[in-house]
Amino acid sequence: MDAPTIMRSLEDAGLRCTPQRFSVMSFLYEHHGHPTAAEIFEGVIALAGDAPRSSRATVYNNLRDLVQAGLVREVAVEGRSARFDVKGIQHHHFICDTCGVVEDLDFYAVPQPPSASLGKRVLYQVELIARGLCTDCATHQPHAQV
Ligand SMILES: [Zn+2]
Ligand SMILES: [Zn+2]
Repeated sequence: MDAPTIMRSLEDAGLRCTPQRFSVMSFLYEHHGHPTAAEIFEGVIALAGDAPRSSRATVYNNLRDLVQAGLVREVAVEGRSARFDVKGIQHHHFICDTCGVVEDLDFYAVPQPPSASLGKRVLYQVELIARGLCTDCATHQPHAQV
């Protein structure tokens, strides 16, 4: 993702383009494997090179700002660290119950909740989290194979 695009998306979301927010965004664009906050922190430190070291707290705060602004999605994984990806092309997720890997599934339309259960809520989109065994774990767990 090129720098002007990242800067524009930050501005469109009403966020000032600080070097650190920029680094978090470019790291997420480069790494599609749904990194944890700790991995993003390591990546931002690596990107910063010789620049003054960012504290873990500032990186986490910036990450939270990006999630609140709707630029970054937090994928909650029960009992494990949350993982993050940049909101671009809409997709579903597959979470492996054994190793915790979070993989993207191509988007397909899913049924909407009935309006009675939505009440006055305004629905924007429905995303699925599918759970099971990833390819690796399914291959190494003979009993789990269907
Ligand atoms: Zn797995
Ligand atoms: Zn994803």
